[in-house]
Amino acid sequence: MKEKGYICRMNKSNYILLTLVAAVIALFFLGRWTGMSLGLRSEQVARHVHEAWCRTDDAHAADTTLRIDSLFREELKAAGLRRLRFRLDIVGIDSATVLRPTLRYYADYAPLVEAGRTYAIPTGDGQGIEARLLNLRAETLGTQLYYLLGTLAGFGLLGLGIFTQVGIIRRQDKLAQMREDFSYAMIHDMKSPLTTLLIGLRTLRSGRLDDKPEKKERHFEVLEQEAGHLLELTNRVLTLSKLESGRLILDLDEVELPPLVESLTRTFEAKATKPVRFHTDLQAETVYADKEYLKEALSNLIDNALKYSKPEGVEVTVASTRKNGYIHIRVRDNGIGIPLSAQRTIFDKFERVLPKGEGKKVSGFGLGLNYVMNVVREHGGYVGVESMPGRYSEFTVSLPERKEEENE
Ligand code: ADP
Repeated sequence: MKEKGYICRMNKSNYILLTLVAAVIALFFLGRWTGMSLGLRSEQVARHVHEAWCRTDDAHAADTTLRIDSLFREELKAAGLRRLRFRLDIVGIDSATVLRPTLRYYADYAPLVEAGRTYAIPTGDGQGIEARLLNLRAETLGTQLYYLLGTLAGFGLLGLGIFTQVGIIRRQDKLAQMREDFSYAMIHDMKSPLTTLLIGLRTLRSGRLDDKPEKKERHFEVLEQEAGHLLELTNRVLTLSKLESGRLILDLDEVELPPLVESLTRTFEAKATKPVRFHTDLQAETVYADKEYLKEALSNLIDNALKYSKPEGVEVTVASTRKNGYIHIRVRDNGIGIPLSAQRTIFDKFERVLPKGEGKKVSGFGLGLNYVMNVVREHGGYVGVESMPGRYSEFTVSLPERKEEENE
């Protein structure tokens, strides 16, 4: 199917890009996260806090009228730690109190700060002020959590990209397999009419039937039928490939529906291998279409109605109506029906849903409905299906009415 293949290719490159971007994001966040988890981030936070406290100490030493809490808050803000909460405690200064040293290397204070405290800034009278960091761990964890979520999202995206690509590869494999099966089935299907043709021609050429005109006539009929079957098959494949490469040219004209449907029903009545009753209700009598392609599309639908019905017989209704700028042509049967889950896929190329048990007996390549859909789309129309398993199937071909300007 043309569009599907195109979408597949589009998706494939998009998803490769998505996967690559996701991999970069995931690795970036993972790097940051593991870096922090190894202690880098909590050490960084503690170091920033310590340096902010040192600057607060300096500023307060330079001007003791300044309030320590506002100085510290400003310093923390400048260090990007605006969510860090603290409390200032007045502590008595004794020999165990950690005081402002001359050199304030973070390493000397790391255990103290990481435990949520700062050294004490002496305020005189044997007292000092110390900051208690209330959410130091949360501040560190919060940032860690942010990177963790980033990592998870990155990996989620990466997984999605990989998963989708695997899906695309599987679909392509399936399509390749279907094509292989199709080529095999098609060659197989061509073999028997060709063999019949060859045998028939040899018999006719031998002159053995020259004195049996009836038998000879019957032979010609069979040969014609077989040749017709081959031609039909080749035409269908050709049309589909034309449709795929955008080379199909429609010869649009007003088509009279009653004679077209009549000729189809007569043909199917003649070749049906089970009892079949046709009903027609053509309220819209003309349609603007390419007669040959429309006939082939309707023929596919009727052929399916006969194929996918019980051996006891089938009733097929062909009806047409005009509504909302479209001519709707319905082909309805009281056959085996189509499960809801399959109703979306049956229009795909090579897609077949075979009735359990007797499936192998129903010949086909899964091309008929794809042909109908593509031909109808080429006309600017659409196809719909409605069905109830065991009860009926109804396919509706909707073709746009001829526009005014096309009439001129
Ligand atoms: P094919 O007939 O070669 O299998 P089609 O494209 O014509 O391919 O149909 C695809 C599938 O749709 C069929 O295999 C069948 O399962 C289902 N189908 C089509 N028409 C009918 C119908 N009238 N009733 C029940 N099933 C149908």
